[in-house]
Amino acid sequence: MTKKILICGPCAAESAAQMDVVARSMKDVLHWASGQFDVVLRAGLWKPRSQPSSFQGVGAEGLPWLIDAADQIGVPAATEVAQPEHLLAAYEAGIRHFWIGARTTSNPFMVEALAHVPVADKQAVTWYVKNPTSPDMNLWSGAVERLTGAGYMHICAIHRGFALGEHASGVYRNAPMWSQAIEFKRRYPAIPLLTDASHIAGCAERVSEIAERAMRMGMNGLMIEVHPDPKNALSDAGQQLTPEEFRDLLQRLAAIDASTQTAQSAELTALRQQIDETDDELWALLSRRLDIARQIGEYKRQHGLPVLQQARYEEILQRRLAWAKEHGIDPESAKQIMDIIHEQSVLKQL
Ligand code: PEP
Ligand code: MN
Repeated sequence: MTKKILICGPCAAESAAQMDVVARSMKDVLHWASGQFDVVLRAGLWKPRSQPSSFQGVGAEGLPWLIDAADQIGVPAATEVAQPEHLLAAYEAGIRHFWIGARTTSNPFMVEALAHVPVADKQAVTWYVKNPTSPDMNLWSGAVERLTGAGYMHICAIHRGFALGEHASGVYRNAPMWSQAIEFKRRYPAIPLLTDASHIAGCAERVSEIAERAMRMGMNGLMIEVHPDPKNALSDAGQQLTPEEFRDLLQRLAAIDASTQTAQSAELTALRQQIDETDDELWALLSRRLDIARQIGEYKRQHGLPVLQQARYEEILQRRLAWAKEHGIDPESAKQIMDIIHEQSVLKQL
């Protein structure tokens, strides 16, 4: 069984002492987890913060702290790079694992600049490309392609959710939009895709549900923020796990990993058959609905009625949302489905 990848450690390196505690508090559990995971120790040095008054990271000063901590544990170190100077300084210090943050992936100029930094041994480098802040598949894949185009071979992607505003993200800091992760996997089956459970969840209590879901789905690894004293962390205080919480999570993940070997049982084949049949029915119904919409469009045209009738859509939508709630379907997803169906019907009527 190929190992999964686990990038873990604090959101940011804060001091030499903090990184030393990180190493000491995580060493044993990471050694234990190394049967299941290839482990990488993370710590942000240059932090892309929205507010200029927030902690911006310690910068190059923290490079030796991160490297020493990773050496103590016996794993490689990873940090975020957003500008050529970050990459040059970190590479020079000996770091070979770099992630591109969501805000940087959103900016093709910055990715291009990073891709063309003269790095002596590109084959020794592993890149982890986070999804951009908005669900734009081409920005994400574009960043990957800029790196492969520049000669890098070892590339992974990280799904860290999408900033859709408070409402659409539901209980999480960033809306997971698993469909985007699934689409990425479909387009790039050879690129390992990790789930950043911490930045999706945004609060420590919800990290494990995202991490467990990612493992069950068959993602290739995880990014998890762990801090010796999360409450007093200088960034992302609410979402970092204590070393103890992290150990509990890894123990639960070990149980899941054993149960997700690709099963090809008769039972699974039969269930898949049922899914295919249900999809056939679903698509036949959709096509019938669109045909009725076309007839309604014809009627409205003949009687001079406008195509878009807001009150009628509101009524349909509310009925479906109530139904979704009753059947345990996430209302936001139900609304998205309804909106697409309605949009297609309107287009048909036009
Ligand atoms: C991080 O990993 O600490 C980080 C800033 O992540 P993101 O780019 O996903 O917001
Ligand atoms: Mn963080």
